Amino acid sequence: MRCNIFTQEHEIFRRTVKNFVEKEIKPYATEWDEKEEFPRELFKRLGELGFLGIKYPEKYGGAGLDFTYETVFIEEMARGGSLGMLLSILVQTDMATPAIYHFGTEEQKEKFLKPALSGEKIFAIGITEPGAGSDVAAIKTTAKREGDYYIVNGSKTFITNGAIADYITLAVKTAPEKGHRGISLLIFDTGTEGFSVGKHIKKMGNWASNTAELFFDNCRVPVENRIGGENMGFYYIMKGFETERLSGAVMAQAAAEYALEIALKYVKEREAFGKKIIDLQAIRHRLVDLMTEVEVSKRFLYYVIDKYVSGEDTLTEITMAKLWIGEMAIRVANEALQFLGGYGYTREYPIERILRDVRLYTIGGGTSEIMREILSKRLLS
Ligand SMILES: Cc1cc2nc3c(=O)[nH]c(=O)nc-3n(C[C@H](O)[C@H](O)[C@H](O)COP(=O)(O)OP(=O)(O)OC[C@H]3O[C@@H](n4cnc5c(N)ncnc54)[C@H](O)[C@@H]3O)c2cc1C
Repeated sequence: MRCNIFTQEHEIFRRTVKNFVEKEIKPYATEWDEKEEFPRELFKRLGELGFLGIKYPEKYGGAGLDFTYETVFIEEMARGGSLGMLLSILVQTDMATPAIYHFGTEEQKEKFLKPALSGEKIFAIGITEPGAGSDVAAIKTTAKREGDYYIVNGSKTFITNGAIADYITLAVKTAPEKGHRGISLLIFDTGTEGFSVGKHIKKMGNWASNTAELFFDNCRVPVENRIGGENMGFYYIMKGFETERLSGAVMAQAAAEYALEIALKYVKEREAFGKKIIDLQAIRHRLVDLMTEVEVSKRFLYYVIDKYVSGEDTLTEITMAKLWIGEMAIRVANEALQFLGGYGYTREYPIERILRDVRLYTIGGGTSEIMREILSKRLLS
Protein backbone atom coordinates (compact mmCIF):
# COMPACT_ATOMS: atom_id res chain seq x y z
CA MET A 1 0.00 0.00 0.00
CA ARG A 2 1.40 3.35 -1.09
CA CYS A 3 0.55 6.13 1.31
CA ASN A 4 2.25 9.01 -0.34
CA ILE A 5 0.53 9.60 -3.64
CA PHE A 6 2.41 12.76 -4.56
CA THR A 7 5.55 13.35 -6.65
CA GLN A 8 7.74 16.36 -7.30
CA GLU A 9 5.34 17.34 -10.09
CA HIS A 10 2.48 17.44 -7.63
CA GLU A 11 4.45 19.71 -5.35
CA ILE A 12 5.11 22.14 -8.20
CA PHE A 13 1.41 22.11 -9.00
CA ARG A 14 0.62 22.59 -5.30
CA ARG A 15 2.74 25.75 -5.21
CA THR A 16 0.85 27.14 -8.21
CA VAL A 17 -2.53 26.53 -6.58
CA LYS A 18 -1.33 27.84 -3.22
CA ASN A 19 -0.12 31.11 -4.78
CA PHE A 20 -3.41 31.51 -6.56
CA VAL A 21 -5.36 30.89 -3.35
CA GLU A 22 -3.26 33.38 -1.37
CA LYS A 23 -3.79 36.13 -3.93
CA GLU A 24 -7.19 35.51 -5.42
CA ILE A 25 -9.24 33.60 -2.85
CA LYS A 26 -8.17 34.34 0.72
CA PRO A 27 -8.57 38.13 0.57
CA TYR A 28 -12.18 37.78 -0.59
CA ALA A 29 -13.41 34.66 1.21
CA THR A 30 -15.19 36.44 4.05
CA GLU A 31 -16.81 38.99 1.73
CA TRP A 32 -18.15 36.23 -0.54
CA ASP A 33 -19.58 34.36 2.39
CA GLU A 34 -21.28 37.41 3.83
CA LYS A 35 -22.70 38.36 0.41
CA GLU A 36 -23.79 34.74 -0.20
CA GLU A 37 -22.20 34.80 -3.64
CA PHE A 38 -18.88 35.01 -5.41
CA PRO A 39 -18.10 36.55 -8.80
CA ARG A 40 -19.08 34.50 -11.81
CA GLU A 41 -15.70 35.48 -13.33
CA LEU A 42 -14.00 33.14 -10.87
CA PHE A 43 -15.17 30.19 -12.97
CA LYS A 44 -13.44 31.76 -16.00
CA ARG A 45 -10.30 32.51 -14.04
CA LEU A 46 -10.13 28.91 -12.78
CA GLY A 47 -10.75 27.74 -16.33
CA GLU A 48 -7.93 29.91 -17.69
CA LEU A 49 -5.55 28.44 -15.14
CA GLY A 50 -6.61 24.93 -16.15
CA PHE A 51 -8.01 24.13 -12.70
CA LEU A 52 -11.49 23.13 -13.88
CA GLY A 53 -10.27 20.40 -16.22
CA ILE A 54 -7.45 18.85 -14.23
CA LYS A 55 -8.50 15.26 -14.80
CA TYR A 56 -10.11 15.68 -18.22
CA PRO A 57 -8.32 15.02 -21.54
CA GLU A 58 -6.55 17.86 -23.29
CA LYS A 59 -8.78 17.61 -26.35
CA TYR A 60 -11.65 18.98 -24.25
CA GLY A 61 -9.48 21.69 -22.76
CA GLY A 62 -8.43 19.63 -19.76
CA ALA A 63 -4.95 19.04 -18.36
CA GLY A 64 -4.96 15.26 -18.90
CA LEU A 65 -3.88 14.54 -15.31
CA ASP A 66 -5.50 12.29 -12.73
CA PHE A 67 -7.39 12.56 -9.46
CA THR A 68 -4.18 12.89 -7.43
CA TYR A 69 -3.75 16.35 -8.95
CA GLU A 70 -7.40 17.13 -8.30
CA THR A 71 -6.67 16.20 -4.68
CA VAL A 72 -3.90 18.80 -4.52
CA PHE A 73 -6.27 21.39 -6.00
CA ILE A 74 -9.03 20.65 -3.47
CA GLU A 75 -6.62 20.57 -0.52
CA GLU A 76 -5.20 23.99 -1.33
CA MET A 77 -8.52 25.56 -2.29
CA ALA A 78 -10.04 24.41 1.01
CA ARG A 79 -7.42 26.49 2.82
CA GLY A 80 -8.71 29.59 1.07
CA GLY A 81 -11.40 30.06 3.69
CA SER A 82 -14.44 29.70 1.43
CA LEU A 83 -15.65 26.13 1.45
CA GLY A 84 -18.93 27.38 0.00
CA MET A 85 -17.18 28.68 -3.11
CA LEU A 86 -15.26 25.41 -3.37
CA LEU A 87 -18.52 23.47 -3.18
CA SER A 88 -19.82 25.41 -6.20
CA ILE A 89 -16.63 24.73 -8.13
CA LEU A 90 -16.65 21.02 -7.32
CA VAL A 91 -20.24 20.77 -8.52
CA GLN A 92 -18.92 21.96 -11.88
CA THR A 93 -15.84 19.71 -12.02
CA ASP A 94 -16.77 16.59 -10.08
CA MET A 95 -20.54 16.33 -9.92
CA ALA A 96 -22.28 17.76 -12.99
CA THR A 97 -19.76 17.14 -15.79
CA PRO A 98 -18.35 13.61 -15.22
CA ALA A 99 -21.52 12.00 -16.66
CA ILE A 100 -21.09 13.99 -19.90
CA TYR A 101 -17.48 12.92 -20.15
CA HIS A 102 -18.09 9.24 -19.38
CA PHE A 103 -21.41 8.66 -21.13
CA GLY A 104 -21.99 11.62 -23.47
CA THR A 105 -21.48 11.84 -27.22
CA GLU A 106 -18.54 13.60 -28.86
CA GLU A 107 -20.92 16.40 -29.89
CA GLN A 108 -22.04 16.85 -26.27
CA LYS A 109 -18.44 16.96 -25.08
CA GLU A 110 -17.63 19.64 -27.65
CA LYS A 111 -20.75 21.65 -26.96
CA PHE A 112 -21.09 21.32 -23.17
CA LEU A 113 -17.97 19.86 -21.57
CA LYS A 114 -15.49 22.21 -23.24
CA PRO A 115 -17.15 25.48 -22.10
CA ALA A 116 -17.63 23.98 -18.63
CA LEU A 117 -13.90 23.26 -18.34
CA SER A 118 -12.96 26.71 -19.66
CA GLY A 119 -15.34 28.26 -17.11
CA GLU A 120 -17.39 30.02 -19.76
CA LYS A 121 -20.48 28.07 -18.76
CA ILE A 122 -21.64 27.10 -15.29
CA PHE A 123 -23.17 23.73 -14.51
CA ALA A 124 -25.42 22.42 -11.75
CA ILE A 125 -26.56 18.90 -11.01
CA GLY A 126 -30.27 18.47 -10.43
CA ILE A 127 -31.26 15.27 -8.71
CA THR A 128 -32.90 16.14 -5.36
CA GLU A 129 -36.58 17.08 -5.26
CA PRO A 130 -38.84 18.31 -2.47
CA GLY A 131 -40.12 14.74 -2.03
CA ALA A 132 -37.00 12.74 -2.95
CA GLY A 133 -33.48 13.14 -1.59
CA SER A 134 -31.79 9.98 -0.38
CA ASP A 135 -34.32 7.93 -2.33
CA VAL A 136 -33.24 8.94 -5.84
CA ALA A 137 -35.60 6.40 -7.42
CA ALA A 138 -38.56 8.38 -6.01
CA ILE A 139 -37.98 11.50 -8.14
CA LYS A 140 -41.12 12.74 -9.87
CA THR A 141 -39.87 15.19 -12.50
CA THR A 142 -40.98 13.72 -15.81
CA ALA A 143 -39.66 13.96 -19.35
CA LYS A 144 -42.26 12.82 -21.86
CA ARG A 145 -41.04 12.15 -25.36
CA GLU A 146 -42.72 14.13 -28.15
CA GLY A 147 -40.92 13.64 -31.46
CA ASP A 148 -37.39 14.99 -31.17
CA TYR A 149 -38.04 16.60 -27.80
CA TYR A 150 -38.66 15.68 -24.18
CA ILE A 151 -41.28 17.75 -22.36
CA VAL A 152 -39.99 18.25 -18.83
CA ASN A 153 -42.29 18.96 -15.87
CA GLY A 154 -41.48 19.02 -12.18
CA SER A 155 -39.25 20.65 -9.62
CA LYS A 156 -35.88 20.29 -7.92
CA THR A 157 -34.57 21.64 -4.64
CA PHE A 158 -31.26 22.23 -2.83
CA ILE A 159 -29.55 22.66 -6.19
CA THR A 160 -26.06 24.14 -5.82
CA ASN A 161 -25.40 26.76 -8.54
CA GLY A 162 -29.13 26.44 -9.34
CA ALA A 163 -29.75 30.16 -9.88
CA ILE A 164 -26.47 30.85 -11.70
CA ALA A 165 -26.17 27.78 -13.91
CA ASP A 166 -26.25 27.86 -17.71
CA TYR A 167 -26.85 24.12 -17.82
CA ILE A 168 -28.14 21.48 -15.45
CA THR A 169 -27.32 17.81 -15.59
CA LEU A 170 -30.89 16.90 -14.82
CA ALA A 171 -32.35 13.65 -13.53
CA VAL A 172 -35.82 12.96 -14.94
CA LYS A 173 -38.25 10.08 -15.19
CA THR A 174 -38.60 8.98 -18.80
CA ALA A 175 -40.50 5.85 -17.78
CA PRO A 176 -42.13 6.62 -14.41
CA GLU A 177 -43.68 3.16 -14.17
CA LYS A 178 -40.25 1.53 -14.14
CA GLY A 179 -39.01 3.09 -10.88
CA HIS A 180 -35.24 3.51 -10.78
CA ARG A 181 -35.02 1.82 -14.19
CA GLY A 182 -37.02 4.68 -15.68
CA ILE A 183 -34.59 7.53 -14.95
CA SER A 184 -32.62 9.41 -17.62
CA LEU A 185 -30.11 12.26 -17.51
CA LEU A 186 -30.64 15.33 -19.68
CA ILE A 187 -28.44 18.35 -20.27
CA PHE A 188 -30.89 21.12 -19.55
CA ASP A 189 -30.33 24.65 -20.88
CA THR A 190 -31.60 27.14 -18.29
CA GLY A 191 -32.57 29.51 -21.11
CA THR A 192 -35.42 27.13 -21.98
CA GLU A 193 -38.93 28.55 -21.86
CA GLY A 194 -40.90 27.32 -18.84
CA PHE A 195 -37.86 27.13 -16.55
CA SER A 196 -37.84 29.26 -13.41
CA VAL A 197 -35.79 29.65 -10.27
CA GLY A 198 -37.65 29.71 -6.96
CA LYS A 199 -36.46 31.05 -3.69
CA HIS A 200 -32.81 31.41 -2.75
CA ILE A 201 -32.35 28.89 0.05
CA LYS A 202 -30.70 30.32 3.15
CA LYS A 203 -28.40 27.84 4.84
CA MET A 204 -26.48 27.15 8.03
CA GLY A 205 -23.15 27.24 6.17
CA ASN A 206 -21.46 27.30 2.75
CA TRP A 207 -23.04 30.70 2.24
CA ALA A 208 -20.93 31.61 -0.78
CA SER A 209 -22.52 28.80 -2.78
CA ASN A 210 -25.86 29.45 -4.37
CA THR A 211 -28.58 26.93 -3.44
CA ALA A 212 -31.92 27.13 -5.19
CA GLU A 213 -35.28 25.61 -5.94
CA LEU A 214 -35.95 25.04 -9.64
CA PHE A 215 -39.20 24.63 -11.55
CA PHE A 216 -39.85 23.08 -14.95
CA ASP A 217 -43.13 23.82 -16.68
CA ASN A 218 -43.52 22.11 -20.05
CA CYS A 219 -39.87 22.69 -20.94
CA ARG A 220 -38.78 21.37 -24.33
CA VAL A 221 -35.41 19.61 -24.31
CA PRO A 222 -33.97 18.18 -27.53
CA VAL A 223 -33.55 14.41 -27.42
CA GLU A 224 -29.94 14.95 -28.51
CA ASN A 225 -29.34 16.45 -25.06
CA ARG A 226 -29.93 13.09 -23.36
CA ILE A 227 -26.75 11.72 -21.82
CA GLY A 228 -26.23 8.08 -22.80
CA GLY A 229 -29.09 5.63 -23.08
CA GLU A 230 -32.70 6.29 -22.20
CA ASN A 231 -33.57 4.96 -18.72
CA MET A 232 -29.91 4.45 -17.88
CA GLY A 233 -29.76 7.54 -15.64
CA PHE A 234 -29.87 5.78 -12.28
CA TYR A 235 -26.75 3.83 -13.14
CA TYR A 236 -24.97 7.01 -14.33
CA ILE A 237 -25.97 8.86 -11.15
CA MET A 238 -24.68 6.08 -8.91
CA LYS A 239 -21.42 5.95 -10.88
CA GLY A 240 -21.12 9.74 -10.59
CA PHE A 241 -21.58 9.57 -6.83
CA GLU A 242 -18.21 7.81 -6.57
CA THR A 243 -16.21 10.81 -7.81
CA GLU A 244 -18.52 13.23 -6.00
CA ARG A 245 -18.08 11.41 -2.69
CA LEU A 246 -14.35 11.05 -3.11
CA SER A 247 -13.84 14.75 -3.81
CA GLY A 248 -16.22 15.48 -0.91
CA ALA A 249 -14.02 13.37 1.36
CA VAL A 250 -10.91 15.25 0.20
CA MET A 251 -12.64 18.56 0.92
CA ALA A 252 -13.74 17.34 4.38
CA GLN A 253 -10.24 16.10 5.20
CA ALA A 254 -8.67 19.40 4.12
CA ALA A 255 -11.23 21.37 6.13
CA ALA A 256 -10.46 19.34 9.26
CA GLU A 257 -6.73 19.93 8.81
CA TYR A 258 -7.29 23.63 8.27
CA ALA A 259 -9.42 23.88 11.43
CA LEU A 260 -6.74 22.11 13.44
CA GLU A 261 -4.01 24.37 12.04
CA ILE A 262 -5.96 27.43 13.17
CA ALA A 263 -6.41 25.93 16.64
CA LEU A 264 -2.73 25.02 16.90
CA LYS A 265 -1.62 28.51 15.96
CA TYR A 266 -3.99 30.00 18.51
CA VAL A 267 -2.97 27.82 21.48
CA LYS A 268 0.67 28.65 20.81
CA GLU A 269 -0.07 32.36 21.19
CA ARG A 270 -2.85 32.58 23.78
CA GLU A 271 -2.01 32.61 27.47
CA ALA A 272 -4.05 31.61 30.54
CA PHE A 273 -2.97 31.12 34.15
CA GLY A 274 0.49 32.44 33.27
CA LYS A 275 1.13 29.85 30.58
CA LYS A 276 0.62 29.42 26.90
CA ILE A 277 -2.56 27.39 26.39
CA ILE A 278 -0.53 24.78 24.51
CA ASP A 279 1.42 24.05 27.68
CA LEU A 280 -1.68 22.93 29.55
CA GLN A 281 -1.71 19.15 29.67
CA ALA A 282 -5.46 18.79 29.13
CA ILE A 283 -5.11 20.81 25.93
CA ARG A 284 -2.01 18.94 24.75
CA HIS A 285 -3.66 15.55 25.15
CA ARG A 286 -6.76 16.60 23.30
CA LEU A 287 -4.68 18.16 20.53
CA VAL A 288 -2.63 15.03 19.93
CA ASP A 289 -5.81 12.93 19.91
CA LEU A 290 -7.18 15.14 17.15
CA MET A 291 -3.90 15.17 15.25
CA THR A 292 -3.86 11.38 15.36
CA GLU A 293 -7.42 11.19 14.11
CA VAL A 294 -6.69 13.57 11.23
CA GLU A 295 -3.48 11.79 10.22
CA VAL A 296 -5.03 8.31 10.26
CA SER A 297 -7.91 9.62 8.13
CA LYS A 298 -5.52 11.19 5.68
CA ARG A 299 -3.51 8.01 5.18
CA PHE A 300 -6.68 6.02 4.54
CA LEU A 301 -7.90 8.69 2.13
CA TYR A 302 -4.64 8.61 0.16
CA TYR A 303 -4.86 4.85 -0.01
CA VAL A 304 -8.40 5.15 -1.42
CA ILE A 305 -7.29 7.75 -3.97
CA ASP A 306 -4.38 5.56 -5.05
CA LYS A 307 -6.74 2.62 -5.57
CA TYR A 308 -9.31 4.78 -7.37
CA VAL A 309 -6.70 6.17 -9.75
CA SER A 310 -5.50 2.65 -10.55
CA GLY A 311 -8.99 1.91 -11.89
CA GLU A 312 -9.91 -0.78 -9.34
CA ASP A 313 -13.37 -1.06 -7.80
CA THR A 314 -13.19 1.41 -4.91
CA LEU A 315 -16.87 1.87 -4.09
CA THR A 316 -16.58 0.35 -0.61
CA GLU A 317 -13.53 2.41 0.32
CA ILE A 318 -14.94 5.66 -1.11
CA THR A 319 -18.14 5.10 0.89
CA MET A 320 -16.08 4.49 4.04
CA ALA A 321 -14.02 7.63 3.37
CA LYS A 322 -17.13 9.79 2.80
CA LEU A 323 -18.72 8.44 5.99
CA TRP A 324 -15.69 8.54 8.28
CA ILE A 325 -14.07 11.74 7.10
CA GLY A 326 -17.36 13.65 6.90
CA GLU A 327 -18.08 12.80 10.55
CA MET A 328 -14.45 13.32 11.58
CA ALA A 329 -14.38 16.82 10.06
CA ILE A 330 -17.38 17.86 12.14
CA ARG A 331 -15.81 16.48 15.34
CA VAL A 332 -12.48 18.14 14.64
CA ALA A 333 -13.94 21.52 13.64
CA ASN A 334 -16.15 21.49 16.73
CA GLU A 335 -13.26 20.75 19.07
CA ALA A 336 -10.95 23.15 17.25
CA LEU A 337 -13.42 25.95 17.93
CA GLN A 338 -13.35 25.09 21.64
CA PHE A 339 -9.59 25.77 21.82
CA LEU A 340 -10.25 29.36 20.77
CA GLY A 341 -12.77 29.93 23.56
CA GLY A 342 -15.00 32.97 23.00
CA TYR A 343 -12.99 34.12 20.00
CA GLY A 344 -13.76 30.85 18.26
CA TYR A 345 -17.44 31.65 18.51
CA THR A 346 -17.05 35.04 16.86
CA ARG A 347 -16.81 35.82 13.18
CA GLU A 348 -13.38 37.35 13.72
CA TYR A 349 -11.84 33.94 13.32
CA PRO A 350 -12.69 31.61 10.43
CA ILE A 351 -13.30 28.63 12.70
CA GLU A 352 -17.02 29.22 13.28
CA ARG A 353 -17.50 29.35 9.53
CA ILE A 354 -15.62 26.12 9.05
CA LEU A 355 -17.79 24.43 11.66
CA ARG A 356 -20.97 25.65 9.96
CA ASP A 357 -19.65 24.64 6.55
CA VAL A 358 -18.47 21.12 7.44
CA ARG A 359 -21.83 20.30 9.02
CA LEU A 360 -23.01 19.66 5.46
CA TYR A 361 -20.62 16.76 4.96
CA THR A 362 -22.80 14.11 6.61
CA ILE A 363 -25.80 15.26 4.53
CA GLY A 364 -24.79 16.45 1.02
CA GLY A 365 -23.75 13.93 -1.62
CA GLY A 366 -25.52 11.18 0.35
CA THR A 367 -26.10 11.16 4.10
CA SER A 368 -24.10 9.18 6.63
CA GLU A 369 -27.09 6.87 7.05
CA ILE A 370 -27.08 6.13 3.32
CA MET A 371 -23.30 5.49 3.45
CA ARG A 372 -23.97 2.97 6.23
CA GLU A 373 -26.72 1.38 4.12
CA ILE A 374 -24.35 0.97 1.16
CA LEU A 375 -21.65 -0.48 3.40
CA SER A 376 -24.10 -2.86 5.08
CA LYS A 377 -25.10 -4.22 1.69
CA ARG A 378 -21.50 -4.58 0.52
CA LEU A 379 -19.96 -5.91 3.70
CA LEU A 380 -22.70 -7.85 5.44
CA SER A 381 -24.63 -9.56 2.64
C1 LIG B 1 -26.19 22.80 0.87
C2 LIG B 1 -26.75 21.66 0.06
C3 LIG B 1 -26.39 21.54 -1.26
C4 LIG B 1 -26.92 20.50 -2.05
N1 LIG B 1 -26.62 20.46 -3.37
C5 LIG B 1 -27.28 19.57 -4.16
C6 LIG B 1 -27.11 19.60 -5.59
O1 LIG B 1 -26.34 20.39 -6.13
N2 LIG B 1 -27.85 18.73 -6.32
C7 LIG B 1 -28.71 17.83 -5.78
O2 LIG B 1 -29.33 17.09 -6.51
N3 LIG B 1 -28.88 17.78 -4.43
C8 LIG B 1 -28.20 18.63 -3.62
N4 LIG B 1 -28.39 18.59 -2.24
C9 LIG B 1 -29.32 17.62 -1.68
C10 LIG B 1 -28.67 16.53 -0.86
O3 LIG B 1 -28.01 15.62 -1.71
C11 LIG B 1 -29.79 15.88 -0.02
O4 LIG B 1 -30.13 16.81 0.97
C12 LIG B 1 -29.38 14.58 0.59
O5 LIG B 1 -29.19 13.59 -0.38
C13 LIG B 1 -30.43 14.07 1.60
O6 LIG B 1 -31.72 14.12 1.05
P1 LIG B 1 -32.92 14.82 1.85
O7 LIG B 1 -32.41 16.15 2.31
O8 LIG B 1 -34.13 14.77 1.04
O9 LIG B 1 -33.10 13.94 3.16
P2 LIG B 1 -33.99 12.62 3.27
O10 LIG B 1 -33.64 11.67 2.23
O11 LIG B 1 -35.41 13.01 3.40
O12 LIG B 1 -33.48 12.06 4.66
C14 LIG B 1 -33.90 12.58 5.94
C15 LIG B 1 -33.18 11.77 7.02
O13 LIG B 1 -33.58 10.38 6.90
C16 LIG B 1 -32.42 9.58 6.74
N5 LIG B 1 -32.67 8.44 5.85
C17 LIG B 1 -33.21 8.47 4.61
N6 LIG B 1 -33.23 7.23 4.09
C18 LIG B 1 -32.70 6.41 5.03
C19 LIG B 1 -32.45 5.01 5.10
N7 LIG B 1 -32.72 4.19 4.08
N8 LIG B 1 -31.91 4.52 6.25
C20 LIG B 1 -31.60 5.33 7.29
N9 LIG B 1 -31.83 6.66 7.28
C21 LIG B 1 -32.36 7.19 6.17
C22 LIG B 1 -31.38 10.50 6.13
O14 LIG B 1 -30.07 10.02 6.35
C23 LIG B 1 -31.67 11.80 6.87
O15 LIG B 1 -31.05 11.77 8.12
C24 LIG B 1 -27.82 19.58 -1.46
C25 LIG B 1 -28.15 19.69 -0.10
C26 LIG B 1 -27.64 20.73 0.65
C27 LIG B 1 -28.07 20.84 2.09
